Amino acid sequence: MSKLSQNKPNPVLKKYKLVFLGEQSVGKTSMITRFMYDSFDTHYQATIGIDFLSKTVYCKDKTIRLQLWDTAGQERFRSLIPSYIRDSQVAVVVYDITNLPSFEQTSKWIEDVRNERGENVLVVLVGNKVDLESMRQVPTEMAENLAKDLNTLFIETSAKCGYNVRQLFKRIGDSLPDLDTELRAHESLQEVSLRKQHNEKLFGEKSKLM
Ligand code: GDP
Ligand code: MG
Repeated sequence: MSKLSQNKPNPVLKKYKLVFLGEQSVGKTSMITRFMYDSFDTHYQATIGIDFLSKTVYCKDKTIRLQLWDTAGQERFRSLIPSYIRDSQVAVVVYDITNLPSFEQTSKWIEDVRNERGENVLVVLVGNKVDLESMRQVPTEMAENLAKDLNTLFIETSAKCGYNVRQLFKRIGDSLPDLDTELRAHESLQEVSLRKQHNEKLFGEKSKLM
């Protein structure tokens, strides 16, 4: 696979691993579903138990491939999380704007990311479920301040309505470095195959836990 890609005349799309983090029920799976299929399905959870989903994102000045890794069930098993974060380039840390404790936990999730990846990672803080404005417990400004303090991007979304979901991924694409040289793309392909093995281990665990 890597040899073939080296022979291609066009540069290989740069791949980025993007992990979704945050407490259970904040809407991580729904956000992936909205982005991938432009749908909102409360029964989707069961079918997403695969390694990751890939999507090509077309940005202003580049085209990239994002691998979206969901954390179905692992939220409760924090000891599994570092290995999941380890080789990621993007961490999307989600909270539910109607659930203050889910926001309070985001600092811990971001700390986990920084412990594993330092500054070599793009972190996005996402306040989901803005369609439930009347039940809001987390003021936008509070989250903006946290994002500033922790040097992350910030956006509010509704996976249910589709509000700002595309925008979220577009902002991620725009903030990632440009296409690297073919050599780097070649390296990233090797990384992906390693991740896959690693992921089998992780998700083998998960199937027991779920
Ligand atoms: P996860 O545990 O973080 O993956 O959360 P899910 O995607 O499974 O969503 C948890 C619950 O919140 C489900 O009942 C979803 O239908 C609901 N949900 C997710 N996103 C939204 C949203 O934007 N608005 C509303 N009102 N409900 C949402
Ligand atoms: Mg989920």
